[in-house]
Amino acid sequence: MKQTAIMVAALSALTLGCASVNAKDPAPRDFQRIVDSAHARYKDLKDGKNADYIPILTETPSDLFGVVIVTRDGKVYSAGDVDYAFSIQSVSKPFTAALVMTEQGPGVLRDKIGVEPTGLAFNSKLALAVYENSQNPLVNAGAIAAVSLVKASSEQERWKKVQQNLSDFAGRQLGVLEKVYDSEYSTAFGNRGIANLLFNWGRLYSDPEEALRVYTRQCSVGVTAKDLGLMGATLANGGVNPLTKRRVMPAEHVPELLAVMATAGFYDESGEWMYTAGLPAKTGVGGGIVAVVPGRFAIAAFSPRLNEAGNSVRSLNAIRDIAGELGVGVFGANPK
Ligand code: GLU
Repeated sequence: MKQTAIMVAALSALTLGCASVNAKDPAPRDFQRIVDSAHARYKDLKDGKNADYIPILTETPSDLFGVVIVTRDGKVYSAGDVDYAFSIQSVSKPFTAALVMTEQGPGVLRDKIGVEPTGLAFNSKLALAVYENSQNPLVNAGAIAAVSLVKASSEQERWKKVQQNLSDFAGRQLGVLEKVYDSEYSTAFGNRGIANLLFNWGRLYSDPEEALRVYTRQCSVGVTAKDLGLMGATLANGGVNPLTKRRVMPAEHVPELLAVMATAGFYDESGEWMYTAGLPAKTGVGGGIVAVVPGRFAIAAFSPRLNEAGNSVRSLNAIRDIAGELGVGVFGANPK
């Protein structure tokens, strides 16, 4: 009897194409307790250090730490500094990839950028050797290429579309932290080199300096941990923002985007992340991370100190613990 019930549940989950959509979320007080305890567990952890290759990022107070869960129906459970605005950095990348998919279909990502994990750091020098044929929209090369693919007849239009798309995912108007932009653009020698090489290889689809500027502005957009939670919850909700109820991307392309996040969202730690947390996610050197439990909710966190791979130490630990406690890994519950 019990076995039949399990089979029926499994079959109906498969029919919905999403194994976790049928699972029941915990009661609100349990969500809140789990967020509070993950925050308390890591709030004194001092491992890692702020990113410093973008000079201004060293000025973000290192002890900031916020953790948030946002459900597909827009309920927010948070602890700590979830309203502090920091630069989104690479967490912007899947959302601009979503814009390109929405405009031109998912084939364009596969054909004009690539969807293979590189297993390399976001700014790896070795990565240049593989950029010609192996990249994805979540490493810098692929992300600059994604910006260049946005349909636009001017730099202004390209930027406005990128900014509006990020805002639509967050459900509020987002702006640029101009000091971060100035600091990053004035030191963007590596990314400029990447953009020029891609252009030379026919893998960049606009003027290289324009793509570099818009990409750098995109990375300088100010967000809070709560914003990241809402952006992730929009993906968890099949592309509809839970607050504004606006459809931001077609539901049928969400699984493809989450697949790229699962294989490349943590750069050269993506394998380790999937092995231990089991959730599609994206990190940024500003200290933000968002993870998505498909069909259910997003878990986001922010804290500036990064490990060697460029991933926020407190954030990744908090999100991994929450995923473990709630048993929401996409391949099944990971052991706690
Ligand atoms: N804007 C950063 C860069 O291009 C993003 C890196 C990241 O967040 O991983 O280097």
